[in-house]
Amino acid sequence: MLNNFQSKRQQMVDTQLIPRGIRDKRVIEAMKKVPRHLFLDEALWPQAYEDHPLPIGEKQTISQPYIVALMTELLQLTGKEKVLEIGSGSGFQTAVLAELAEQVYTIERIPAIAKRARKIFDVLKYKNIILTIGDGTLGWKEHSPYDGIIVTAAAPNAPKPLLEQLSIMGRLVIPIGNEFSQDLIVYTREDADNYSEENHGGCRFVKLIGERGWKD
Ligand code: SAH
Repeated sequence: MLNNFQSKRQQMVDTQLIPRGIRDKRVIEAMKKVPRHLFLDEALWPQAYEDHPLPIGEKQTISQPYIVALMTELLQLTGKEKVLEIGSGSGFQTAVLAELAEQVYTIERIPAIAKRARKIFDVLKYKNIILTIGDGTLGWKEHSPYDGIIVTAAAPNAPKPLLEQLSIMGRLVIPIGNEFSQDLIVYTREDADNYSEENHGGCRFVKLIGERGWKD
């Protein structure tokens, strides 16, 4: 069974990630290593490595593997970073980040989802993930500044607290748009008051709900 999933991960990398341009070797290694199926209900294990999002309950979804790899690559992690993730969901993206950064803070607004993610972090023995339940649109000031912030839900615009909690040259990766489609935007904090902006193309996420996101 284990070998079977290992070969599925290799196949996922070879057919979904490399051909679409994922190049960061550390990201590819992490995608080969993290057991994505364990973040899903057992009934979905046969589909765990397919090229699409899947339901995780409470009308939320685990992102498509390619999107996880792309967003992670855009953070340009080297292993020393402190990263904040908004929208823990299944915890799969969080685990990929934990393989590639020094410390990962993650915020989830739905308690039942957060509880499941925490459980799997324990099972897989991730010691560098701290999860809290709350409204991630306000960031997590206590541990700021962050070298990278990743938002895995669709936002109407970049929440100001997140921009303010970036370190100098820190990067915010976030899907911005309406509730049906978004563009993946990377904001880089060039200095205290200036941010550059890059568009990495279309995507579709569930809504970011909160004070600086969409209303419930
Ligand atoms: N990276 C996750 C994506 C899950 S979907 C994965 O691949 O599994 C997005 C998640 O964002 C949902 O679990 C949703 O509950 C959560 N979310 C939405 N608005 C939020 C907010 N303001 N703060 C924290 N989490 C939020």
